[in-house]
Amino acid sequence: MDELAGGRRRADSCAPLPLLPDDMLAEILLRLPPEPIHLFRASFVSKHWRHLVHDARFLRRFREFHGGTPPVLGFFNNQPGPSLFVPTSDGFAPARPSKRSTDGWWALDCRHGRALLEKMGSRKLLVWDLVTGDQRYLRHPAAYQGIYHGTVLCATGHAHHGDCHSCPFLVVYVYSRRSDSAICACVWSSETRVWGEVTSIVIPSLSVYPKSPALVGNTLYWLLQNSSIIEYDLGNHILGLTEEFPYEARCSYQGNIVLMPTEDGLLGLAGVQGLNLHLWSLVASVDGLPTWTHQRVIDLKNFLAPEVVAGTFNYLVEAIGFAQDAGVIFIYVRSSVYMIHLKSMQIEEVSEKGDYANILPYTSFYAPGITIGGGDDQAEMLNKS
Ligand SMILES: [Zn+2]
Repeated sequence: MDELAGGRRRADSCAPLPLLPDDMLAEILLRLPPEPIHLFRASFVSKHWRHLVHDARFLRRFREFHGGTPPVLGFFNNQPGPSLFVPTSDGFAPARPSKRSTDGWWALDCRHGRALLEKMGSRKLLVWDLVTGDQRYLRHPAAYQGIYHGTVLCATGHAHHGDCHSCPFLVVYVYSRRSDSAICACVWSSETRVWGEVTSIVIPSLSVYPKSPALVGNTLYWLLQNSSIIEYDLGNHILGLTEEFPYEARCSYQGNIVLMPTEDGLLGLAGVQGLNLHLWSLVASVDGLPTWTHQRVIDLKNFLAPEVVAGTFNYLVEAIGFAQDAGVIFIYVRSSVYMIHLKSMQIEEVSEKGDYANILPYTSFYAPGITIGGGDDQAEMLNKS
């Protein structure tokens, strides 16, 4: 009897803990950091947790809880040396495109959870969702003849692009046409799977600078190879020139400037002079004409370690990229990259050092079906339930 009673006591001591109510559990999970690895791990705790984490309402609340600002997971880099994709977030390394080496791919741009790459020496383009692993291949538009650039963006009119993985998308290409000195643009839609009509504007002696454009509202802005800026209105498919950035100012940044949207929805620009990060904005002046105006000056000495500041003597400090969805600017200081969160002014150093220029940041929240792995053998596909 005692043995039985003892057995019962042992059994009682091993009884499972009472389950938390779902709403309480959701409140706890909402407070996990925004990097996908945390919800990824939570989804493995049990089938019940996976259902909760994959619930569309929970994921919407998770994005809202984090201010609608997706974390930076890494960036693409086309310089020799470092890897094509450099992770900045622990636990995130995408499976490789095409189950092959990333050698031979050139990254063009990243936006709204997708990256656009081209296979060098071929006419093949790849749109790659690094989080879900989705890959779509398409061909270059037939007509390009000169310098070109392309970008990818979500085709759904989200106020905040935090959940675009299953949305249709657009690929926008701009290129120089030598025959008539025109700059041309055309758009590929994932819904029609064809390139649309080419629109053009004659701008003699100028080419598109192959660097990530800024998306402001429904307009894309690319730098040209002097201080001019070309705009492409996605709604009306019209190309035009916007107010030129002062040439002397561009020279003071050694030409290293980054187009970006400002917090108040205007076209902006960043450049570093010495150790001062200058943020500019294209605002309407009193006479109504758009004018490039200093918006903010950030003294990087206040954010970098003294030994880093001391080491910048005789070295350029450059703005090399901007994560539009996350509001993070990337600064290159000798072989290090620093991420500056413009809202919080937090600064982080990217662990992988190297020779970087014009990097393309990738941002995304967690999504069901996430693929995480450093290579083909390590790729893990989550249950899509
Ligand atoms: Zn979107």
